[in-house]
Amino acid sequence: MSQYADVILPLPLQGAFTYALPDEFATRTQVGCRVIVPFGVRKFYTAIVVRLHNEKPPYPTKDVSELLDDAPAVLPGQLRLWKWVSEYYLCSLGEVFKAALPSGLKLESESVVLLNADWDATLPLTTGEEKVWQALQPKKKGKASGQSLANLQKATGLKGILPVVKSLLEKGAVQMKEELRRSRKPRTAKSQANTQPISGPLPQEGGESRRESPSSSGERKGEGALTEAQQQAMDGIVGQWKKHGVCLLHGVTSSGKTEIYIQLIKKAIGEGKQVLYMLPEIVLTTQLTERLRRVFGERLGVYHSRYPDRDRVELYQKMLSDAPYDIVVGVRSSIFLPFQRLGLLIIDEEHETSFKQQDPAPRYHARNAALVLAAQAGAKALLGSATPSLESYYNALSGKYGLVTLKTRYAGLSLPDIEVVDVQEMQRKKMMSGVFSPQLLAHIRKALEQHQQVILFQNRRGYAPVLECRECGWTPRCQSCDVSLTVHRGFRQLVCHYCGKTYDIPSVCPNCQGRELSSRGYGTERIEEQLGRLIPEARISRMDLDTTRSRQNYEQILHDFEEGRTDILIGTQMVTKGLDFDRVSLVGILSADTMLSQPDFRSYERAFQLMEQVAGRAGRKGSTGHVVLQTRDAGNGIVGQVVRHDYEGMYAQQAQERELFRFPPYCRIVSIYLKHRDEKVAESLSNDFAALLRQVFGERVLGPDTPPIAFVQLMHIRKLMLKLELTLPLSAVRQRLVALQEQILSMPAYRSAQMYYDVD
Ligand SMILES: [Zn+2]
Ligand SMILES: [Zn+2]
Repeated sequence: MSQYADVILPLPLQGAFTYALPDEFATRTQVGCRVIVPFGVRKFYTAIVVRLHNEKPPYPTKDVSELLDDAPAVLPGQLRLWKWVSEYYLCSLGEVFKAALPSGLKLESESVVLLNADWDATLPLTTGEEKVWQALQPKKKGKASGQSLANLQKATGLKGILPVVKSLLEKGAVQMKEELRRSRKPRTAKSQANTQPISGPLPQEGGESRRESPSSSGERKGEGALTEAQQQAMDGIVGQWKKHGVCLLHGVTSSGKTEIYIQLIKKAIGEGKQVLYMLPEIVLTTQLTERLRRVFGERLGVYHSRYPDRDRVELYQKMLSDAPYDIVVGVRSSIFLPFQRLGLLIIDEEHETSFKQQDPAPRYHARNAALVLAAQAGAKALLGSATPSLESYYNALSGKYGLVTLKTRYAGLSLPDIEVVDVQEMQRKKMMSGVFSPQLLAHIRKALEQHQQVILFQNRRGYAPVLECRECGWTPRCQSCDVSLTVHRGFRQLVCHYCGKTYDIPSVCPNCQGRELSSRGYGTERIEEQLGRLIPEARISRMDLDTTRSRQNYEQILHDFEEGRTDILIGTQMVTKGLDFDRVSLVGILSADTMLSQPDFRSYERAFQLMEQVAGRAGRKGSTGHVVLQTRDAGNGIVGQVVRHDYEGMYAQQAQERELFRFPPYCRIVSIYLKHRDEKVAESLSNDFAALLRQVFGERVLGPDTPPIAFVQLMHIRKLMLKLELTLPLSAVRQRLVALQEQILSMPAYRSAQMYYDVD
């Protein structure tokens, strides 16, 4: 029997905290169980027990207030991964914990609880539950408002509010506030839990008598039977796995990678293993999950950040049960699920930047963390892409990963023809209609005449990126960030794309009172408007962050396009993702230049990937697609590589430059961000910290620099960079960094400063 528990709290604090275990919990508590502990002034949190012992600490300890689980909610394998993430990405275990568990599993005093309007109020409640239920009733009629657990505790006088709320959550009578921001949808995958025996036969393929959407029926025909090229690729992968834990599948667009995945998943499940199939968020469509569900039935669980928290809690708990899902298809955070016998991990579209979490911490790359998870679990890993990331391709060429290439498109499709239009020349000849070149317009008209569909890609949402006074050149900027505001006509607003703040569109220039304010540049909204005027008979829809606030909108737009109810789909990078349509004969890339001018060492790689992926949407079944690529920089090497679909050429050139200028994969980069409300303090902190770092790391330290956007949400930002040799052990670097950070942030002048790291 242990008297003490070391726990981690969901906070950005280093290390674990020791609490005393009252006798009533002492025998039942296990490592990985959740407990409620008091922390700070009248606050409580859900914490995870990481160690049990009898060593009395040399300071007074508080008691654990509740034990929430009879069995571990976090398995040893998960804790191992958390530890790796926190060490590699230089953040606290608590921050990883916060990201790893759905909200419903980590209640704290600040968590906000709401009534669930759909719940059948006639079902019985305990006295405690009844009290909470009453306290949550709306004060004003019809206006349901949430309450924090701390307030509920006060209002009900209940000592242990958490177990009560926990059981109300389980009954479905209340919900966590987080759910409201997400769209609710009928829960198709809803707890058909426990009905499926683990060892039962696989459900019959295509057994359901549902109508298949026209877009992918062609591919589905072959389900179960691979083409010769696919079979070869599959054999290649299995062969590579004998030598390597990780294999990269480089398969051109529409080469039918998903069929190969399905066969590999069946094989792994047949061997009694679990499978994690990861996708970037926006690629995880109903189109794909329905298809997988037809093959794997109720053995399949879907873990999506847009699903309600309650669904995620349910899936998490099923994974802990003795009848977990055999296959989970999920986004970034699915690596944190409790797998019990993971045998195969597939990361599709592995090049996608959305696998990297930017904010908040942990700023982890889910692909890299997933590969660590696979290695820790002894599982095989497969990375798939038509345009692999430079890092993965480098690892494949250097023999760290296995490599399998699939160059044949499905059903003998050839890669699309790409026509480059020099926008500068067209402007000189005064032949541009707004953002449209005559070539692109002619191709659009021709496609429409032949009842084909068109995708137009512009990597910028909103109406126009800049509003400008014709008289004095004034442009509106965000008051909290140093960036110009984007015009959004539909919302009649100016929007800051960094902090989300909105402003009214001024009717006169506040600087000179001039009345002529004009929009400069093109966002998707303006392109839609312009095209509507040029080709009024076309049925146009737009897909970007503004039109797809909810999952239903997103799927409606896709569905309409699939069914041919719209002719032209205009969109941001959302339209570049693995969507398959039958009738798209033309893809227009409206401006390659916005992608090529990004100030980032990955911008060329990224531009190639985006263009190659969107080009891959053109031409299905028996006809070669056409792509019109508009640019002012027709001589750019990347443009030529896209035209030739020359991934290897792009790789060779970019790899050479990265090696020359020392960027990943040839070294490791740690960016250090320093923030303070006062610009002078931010400046001096960055200089002082740079000096401190140089004493230890010498010339590996670059900066401080003022980033292109140096003022965001009222904070001034400075950036330092460490370029580290791959041979340098990161754990040693981490120790030194943390020590130096503590040293400088303990100085009175810098107490209120923020500092965080971004690795690679
Ligand atoms: Zn003006
Ligand atoms: Zn802003």
